[in-house]
Amino acid sequence: MHQMTLAEIARGLADKKFSSEELTKVLLARITQLDPQLNSFISLTEELALEQAKAADARRANGESGALLGAPIAHKDLFCTQGIRTSCGSKMLDNFKAPYDATVVAKLAAAGAVTLGKTNMDEFAMGSANESSWYGAVKNPWNLEHVPGGSSGGSAAAVAARLLPAATATDTGGSIRQPAAFTNLTGLKPTYGRVSRWGMIAYASSLDQGGPLARTAEDCAILLQGMAGFDQNDSTSIDEPVPDYSASLGDSLQGLRIGVPKEYFSAGLDTRIAELIQNSIKELQKLGAVIKEISLPNMQHAIPAYYVIAPAEASSNLSRFDGVRFGHRCEQPKDLIDLYKRSRGEGFGPEVQRRIMVGAYALSAGYYDAYYLKAQKIRRLVKNDFMAAFNEVDIILGPTTPNPAWKLGAKNSDPVAAYLEDVYTITANLAGLPGLSMPAGFVDGLPVGVQLLAPYFQEGRLLNVAHQYQLNTDWHTRTPTGF
Ligand code: GLN
Repeated sequence: MHQMTLAEIARGLADKKFSSEELTKVLLARITQLDPQLNSFISLTEELALEQAKAADARRANGESGALLGAPIAHKDLFCTQGIRTSCGSKMLDNFKAPYDATVVAKLAAAGAVTLGKTNMDEFAMGSANESSWYGAVKNPWNLEHVPGGSSGGSAAAVAARLLPAATATDTGGSIRQPAAFTNLTGLKPTYGRVSRWGMIAYASSLDQGGPLARTAEDCAILLQGMAGFDQNDSTSIDEPVPDYSASLGDSLQGLRIGVPKEYFSAGLDTRIAELIQNSIKELQKLGAVIKEISLPNMQHAIPAYYVIAPAEASSNLSRFDGVRFGHRCEQPKDLIDLYKRSRGEGFGPEVQRRIMVGAYALSAGYYDAYYLKAQKIRRLVKNDFMAAFNEVDIILGPTTPNPAWKLGAKNSDPVAAYLEDVYTITANLAGLPGLSMPAGFVDGLPVGVQLLAPYFQEGRLLNVAHQYQLNTDWHTRTPTGF
């Protein structure tokens, strides 16, 4: 039962092969049995899940239908869930029960999805390995000595290990696509503004975007359908109609123009990954796509720009965690300054503290022009590169990551080494474009992802290409041993 995709579950529920309650019980038992190896959940919500499953079964018995009605999912632990701990992977919010549901949570609940729990993540979504979580590192089900990627590592490990079919995640600089690549999943970061950020605890507000993590493009289409849409509570949400993402999955790829940036294949890319990317290109050519070499000349500036903008916004966003209004408060403060200092010093881990300091420095009076303003200018250049490229091609293809999942602890002493691994993903966030990662093969038993980028609001095109590719390849069907 745990091997089913969302699409298969929807069919099974519609055909009354099983009930949502039965399925929910099977998956909850599986999580209890297997998750101790992975640490992919911060909280399990058994009672809520069984209540939602019974309600979904009752709605189906009353003649209602819908792809998400009775479908088990989990939320990354930065989506606010009313009355349920919403920790953001931090000691700071370990005691925080959100007073309301994030829009994404409310929309999926209304569609009948069943919440099994809240998944582990890098603290405040800062990281690429899920090792900065206050709740401990998450293990990669493909090799328990390796990281699952981050910051949505809990959602990725849980879905990859077949603990559940799909989960929500967020992507500020790659945190949906990179863990998807590291765990053999399909993950989609939508266009900035496509999915509401209301109730999604902010890391870097101009980059953050929620999206689906699942095994197939077909399932990402189903989950995205439930998440996307205008929200008047989010002033950056865009009032654009949401297309039927499942309806365009079957479109032909005949004549599709795929751009492959020459900068993607420079030194730094594992040659074995480069080979797998070439194979995926050949596969898409067989389906009728035409390949064109393109250039993204400002790509080399993206990492330094991102690692100024993201920490700057983080330092501002995280100033609200002051020991007064939310979360952790130190014992017996001497005065107000002592309360702020010790509450923040105790509540935030080292990576979060590092970024707050970098961000506050970059925004400070003497350095604003030199760092923040300059980074914003680079951001525009990165966007312009993409706009020029999309005049010539329909989609851009390349690796999701330069290397496969590294060993736990391997990059802990060198944060910049970890930042460099984001080279292929952060440009989409800087430009606000949609991006998808899908399975493309294995290197030393570890999964490799291929990334597709599309123009604004072309999520349907990304899902269509990925679905056609998945109808003709079987990488996405591989299951990690022991799960
Ligand atoms: N690895 C990037 C960072 O640490 C991206 C994280 C994310 O997308 N949330 O900032």
